[in-house]
Amino acid sequence: MLIVFFLIGLVIGSFLNVVIYRLPEGKSIIYPPSHCSDCGQKLSPLELIPVLSYIFLRGKCKTCGTDISIRYPIIELLTGIIFIINYFCFSDLIILAAGLIFSSLLIVLTMIDFDHQILPDKLTLGGLIVGLLFSFFRSDISVIYSLAGIMAAGGLLFLIAYLSKGGMGGGDIKMMAMVGSFTGPIIAVSAIFLGALIALVAHLPGVISGETGMKTKLPFGPFLAVASLILWFYSEELFAMYLSLIL
Ligand SMILES: [Zn+2]
Repeated sequence: MLIVFFLIGLVIGSFLNVVIYRLPEGKSIIYPPSHCSDCGQKLSPLELIPVLSYIFLRGKCKTCGTDISIRYPIIELLTGIIFIINYFCFSDLIILAAGLIFSSLLIVLTMIDFDHQILPDKLTLGGLIVGLLFSFFRSDISVIYSLAGIMAAGGLLFLIAYLSKGGMGGGDIKMMAMVGSFTGPIIAVSAIFLGALIALVAHLPGVISGETGMKTKLPFGPFLAVASLILWFYSEELFAMYLSLIL
């Protein structure tokens, strides 16, 4: 079962690569079929096998020899691993399905925010609706709890954005409202604090060396997304650790 989930994750990861690449450019995700971005050659079934094809082709297009980014197999592997973690964490099938969709959304949002500094509404608001719909069928959270998650996480970031006068993008607000729809208020609000903490640590070297000044625009989205994913899996462990630290 573990291997099956890993393989499904690799295939989904390959699809996520397409979404990451095409969605911000407004291209169709379904058509045309996958092709080399340089010479346009349509990929053969063998070349569509995640990770392995990259290794066999030694990272180059079979037709024109252009280097294929190492990012593609890395995202495929990452998705495979995250699917396995979901499988380990959730035995309830509906929660597991929610987890797989939620994780996939966060992987895509992280990468698109890295590349383009945007978090597309299709993914944030679309995901929010999916998260809310799932709450009707989930045994672990109620619809009210999902709505509370949307209001709490979205509201808190809206407040921060208002007080900091544009230091926070609207995309971040919508993304965390989406996270709240899947996790409820406690995990989503905790993810905002954990994301801020990770961002602080990540940007510290730049601030100390003087490369990151007060006017540098720091991306916050990827850190929020990573924090949300960590808490989706390990909130109980992290909350227990936090309590043992402060008590
Ligand atoms: Zn090519």
